[in-house]
Amino acid sequence: MSKLLDAISGFGVTFSTMFKKPITEQYPDDKTPTQARYHGRHQLNRYADGLEKCIGCELCAWACPADAIYVEGADNTESERFSPGERYGRVYQINYLRCIGCGLCIEACPTRALTMTNDYEMADDNRSDLIYDKDKLLAPLQPGMTRPPHAMAEGTTDDDYYLGRVTR
Ligand code: SF4
Ligand code: SF4
Repeated sequence: MSKLLDAISGFGVTFSTMFKKPITEQYPDDKTPTQARYHGRHQLNRYADGLEKCIGCELCAWACPADAIYVEGADNTESERFSPGERYGRVYQINYLRCIGCGLCIEACPTRALTMTNDYEMADDNRSDLIYDKDKLLAPLQPGMTRPPHAMAEGTTDDDYYLGRVTR
């Protein structure tokens, strides 16, 4: 008797589901916005004049529990400057086959060069395209920015950049 009741309650679930309106996600035509704090693709930010915020210090790489970040720093020179101060990130890679989106790297970054966007569309059909290089990670140039290398704003020091005093 109890088996019969179990079967009837099981079919009850089936029948009640049959008359529910189906929920169909229309992705990618309709995209549901993520929460503002969603940890998506990383971004390497720039200062207001276009110089890069990354100083190649590797703190993000050391903080990463998944060993997903590879950084090689190099020296700026007066004729070829990519960031304020002595060093810049010459090579910067994030391996999205390893990244778990934990955000420890952005917490470790001393210049706020590294942040995370809400972009989650990073699927691909091969492994090498999921290792993002600087060309994919650097923030796009905004109006008023100049593509590095170029000199720091006249009369400023790297401290002025770090303290947010260079606004254009
Ligand atoms: S989000 Fe986490 S796993 Fe991904 S690169 Fe940053 S520290 Fe590594
Ligand atoms: S992103 Fe930040 S922590 Fe990583 S190398 Fe650049 S400055 Fe250092």
